[in-house]
Amino acid sequence: MRVLVTGVAGFLGRAVAEALLSRGDEVVGVDRLAGGALGALQRRRLATLRGLAFVEGDLRAQAPLRRALASGAPEVVVHLAGRGGVRDASSTEADFEADNVGALASVLGACPAPMVWASSSSVYGDASGPCAEDAPLDPLGAYARSKRAAEALVGADGRPALALRPFTVYGPWGRPDMAVWRFAEALREDREVEVCVDAWRDWTYIDDFVVAAVRAVDRVGARAGQGAVNVGAGRPASVMSVLQRLESLAGRSATRRERAPLAVEARRTCADPARARAWLDWEPRVDLDEGLRRFWTWYAREGVHGGTAAPP
Ligand code: NAD
Repeated sequence: MRVLVTGVAGFLGRAVAEALLSRGDEVVGVDRLAGGALGALQRRRLATLRGLAFVEGDLRAQAPLRRALASGAPEVVVHLAGRGGVRDASSTEADFEADNVGALASVLGACPAPMVWASSSSVYGDASGPCAEDAPLDPLGAYARSKRAAEALVGADGRPALALRPFTVYGPWGRPDMAVWRFAEALREDREVEVCVDAWRDWTYIDDFVVAAVRAVDRVGARAGQGAVNVGAGRPASVMSVLQRLESLAGRSATRRERAPLAVEARRTCADPARARAWLDWEPRVDLDEGLRRFWTWYAREGVHGGTAAPP
């Protein structure tokens, strides 16, 4: 199958592209790449993707998409480019709108293929119990609002599409701004770390996310319609308990600076995985203990040079 993957130098994009390439799909990837330490990590992620046809550029411009499509139309688009960071105070509402709605609009306009793409669990807001996909949406901040707007845009477009709503994905080649990586980095460098107390997340190991995404790729063309699908197990664990697990893997305690959840972030997230089971035959396989063990092993070998630490 021929697949266009956007955000291919990102955490989720790299992992999905790797799975598609390894089963023999033809993958064209687009990403704009950042500067500094993040850009270095993105290039190291790309170096793991043997056989990828890569186009560098911003999706909001037409030229990179034209180049990516020049060698043939994809059968499916996997749109994983976007601006993450629920708590990112340096990004404005316009920044989230540009990368999460504007870039998506460009891709929809350039390519008519069925689409699998990443919305977010943050569209639900605070979860007192498991959230099913048809629950009312209650985005708490600019990031989540941009994802809700993105869902409306794909809905208006009308093509076959599956919006994945991932719940806190972590694992190798992950994001240095997210809790698991920040905690590992602070433990390794013996630095103080900020931890959100009284916050619970439905953690998803990257390999489980990839299984859901690849099954969505295989099924999206056959379905006439659209829909959102949670990618989360429905088993929240506290952020503090993740730090504690990493502390025992590291064999030392972190110096913590505790804070309460901000107004823009949910205190608790929790997926109802019933639709993922029904539509994608999806069951999460890697529990939090095992996933953190795998991350920690990878981080000790590779991750430390992808974050803020100097390369070897
Ligand atoms: P990431 O930041 O690692 O990857 C996103 C990639 O998209 C980056 O490489 C970035 O350079 C690229 N990109 C952003 N805007 C672009 C543009 N205008 N043109 C070209 N490239 C652009 O993030 P991720 O964790 O891989 O997340 C992928 C998507 O999934 C995002 O939309 C994110 O909001 C969503 N998501 C992620 C999680 C998670 O836990 N990681 C959870 C929910 C939703």
